[in-house]
Amino acid sequence: MILVTGGAGYIGSHNVIALMNAGYNVIIFDNLEIGHIETINTLKTIKTNGKLEEFIKGDLQNFDDINSVFKKFNIDTVVHFAAYSQVAESVKNPQKYYFNNVYGTLNLLKAMLENNVKKIVFSSTAATYGNPDYIPIDENHPQKPINTYGKTKLMIENIMDDYDKAYGLKSVRLRYFNVAGADSQNRIGEWHEPETHLIPNILKSTLEGGKTFQMFGVDYNTKDGTCVRDYINVEDLAKAHVLALKYLENGGETNYFNLGTNEGNSVKEVFATCENITDKKIPVEIKERREGDPATLIADNKKAKEILNWQNEKTLQDSVKTAYNWEVKLAKLFKGNL
Ligand code: UDP
Repeated sequence: MILVTGGAGYIGSHNVIALMNAGYNVIIFDNLEIGHIETINTLKTIKTNGKLEEFIKGDLQNFDDINSVFKKFNIDTVVHFAAYSQVAESVKNPQKYYFNNVYGTLNLLKAMLENNVKKIVFSSTAATYGNPDYIPIDENHPQKPINTYGKTKLMIENIMDDYDKAYGLKSVRLRYFNVAGADSQNRIGEWHEPETHLIPNILKSTLEGGKTFQMFGVDYNTKDGTCVRDYINVEDLAKAHVLALKYLENGGETNYFNLGTNEGNSVKEVFATCENITDKKIPVEIKERREGDPATLIADNKKAKEILNWQNEKTLQDSVKTAYNWEVKLAKLFKGNL
């Protein structure tokens, strides 16, 4: 049995489907602060090789909540997504982030050790690297996060190293670049309130009542003046987690991998792709730079290819298409006619 923390959230829920497709039975643990019960209800209806055994509403900041899950179920491995992930908010309210992300993970690891569970796949981030010294960023790039969110994830990576040395806890840390897209069958998708990410924000402005899209900064030192990011499709990303899990099941040592595509797209390129796919002229307003945005972030993904045998397959167009289908569905849901 696999325990997925944060399985009601965007990345967690797509991973639950990938795990079930791979034949795993899953327990979801989520406090539903960011994740949605509708997502859980959808996941329950999906019939595949594995199944969603149970959803447990609980909070990692409460040790008993998480410890009781290990007492009740026979958990082999944990895939840990539950965390806050908004950069700007993390800088304004670090306490919220240190408690939820770091203290919450300490509780999870304590419960794992008490119940002799020693394998974890952890959702880390490119934000642990900070402003890049070179591009593309490989796993040996120094980790110098420039915001609290990135610091919380790096602290957890370091804690996991110490726990391996002392207690033999094996971890795979997956450092995500910009995750994009939705389920190709349009059952689930990205659903943040408020939404801060580029692709959903562009797409929302094509829908009835949508606001003008705000483009943050056109004076960066890049090909067209806008920031360049590495957009990795959420289903491709989920496949890497299944491979990471198998790697640990096969006795793999603690390790860490970038998950990206080795390619960068500028904000203007993403915007043009959205116009293309929706076949709409999207209203746009040029704004100041957003604080803390590096000009370019691109992953070197060789290590995941070589060691996990992972391959990213989907294109930016695939991500925009699925994200758009999902935005249309979400808009209907809010009108109550889904
Ligand atoms: N961005 C933008 N308008 C938005 C949201 C994002 O221009 O409404 C830009 C942002 O400044 C960055 C890029 O899009 O250059 C990707 O931002 P996102 O928040 O999606 O991901 P991040 O790179 O911060 O993880």
